[in-house]
Amino acid sequence: MREYSDLIYKYTRVDHLPHIWCAGCGNGILTRDVAVAFERLKLEREKTVVVSGIGCSSRAAGYLDVNTIHTTHGRALAFATGIKLANPELHVVVITGDGDCAAIGGNHLIHAARRNIDLTAIVFNNNTYGMTGGQYSPTTPTGDKGTTAPYGNIDRAFDIARLAESSGASYTARGTAYHTLETIQAIERGILHKGFSLIDCYSVCPTYYGRKNKKGSAVDMLIWQRDHGVPRARYDALSPEERQGKFPVGILQQNDYPEFIEQYQRIIDGCETEQERSAFIHD
Ligand code: SF4
Repeated sequence: MREYSDLIYKYTRVDHLPHIWCAGCGNGILTRDVAVAFERLKLEREKTVVVSGIGCSSRAAGYLDVNTIHTTHGRALAFATGIKLANPELHVVVITGDGDCAAIGGNHLIHAARRNIDLTAIVFNNNTYGMTGGQYSPTTPTGDKGTTAPYGNIDRAFDIARLAESSGASYTARGTAYHTLETIQAIERGILHKGFSLIDCYSVCPTYYGRKNKKGSAVDMLIWQRDHGVPRARYDALSPEERQGKFPVGILQQNDYPEFIEQYQRIIDGCETEQERSAFIHD
């Protein structure tokens, strides 16, 4: 594991340190997992782009030393779509949070998934809006508290992986800040996958979500992930009774639906002459 810890320096803009994350935040662990996946895939820096939105998660784009763009709230997938369409050779990875991706950016999420465009979205899911003070988010469990839900959240929480799958994403997976190996592998396979891939990674936010909900220290929150998350192969072998209160970690589903850019290119290739292409555009 130490080799992985050292890798973060290879992919970090050290002149941007110290980082802004709180002590015990899971976002640093997940950012390291992204860097390890890049290294294991031997991605070229010049051909790798990280796009982020707004929130604690999205600061990761500032620290990772590849091509990065820190965009507007909820719009990371829209920027990423433009980048990928302009240059399909690039590996385009979006780092986003539960609020950024499933609330203000929810519309972009469902349409990126529906198009099955070849992007990888990595969600640092901490169950709250950490950067703005702990408001409840689309993944705050029902009954849990936030600054805007002092008596408990009455909304039902989104399962972002299932939301993406039902919208058309051809690859979905779950990671956690605790399950390092499974999370790195899920990110790697998501990047390799042709189509829209989403890895919903449970982070830990001891400062807001944890404190407001009496979850204990950052270590206690990681222990909770260890005790409730089960690697996919082992999860599949559990009986329905044994699965109660547990969740699978790893790949959740993978399909080979048609990919958006390939279909788009087919239309372009079908226009044999410049005149046809011009007529196609102006029709
Ligand atoms: Fe991490 Fe929460 Fe602090 Fe944000 S507020 S940096 S999510 S611990």
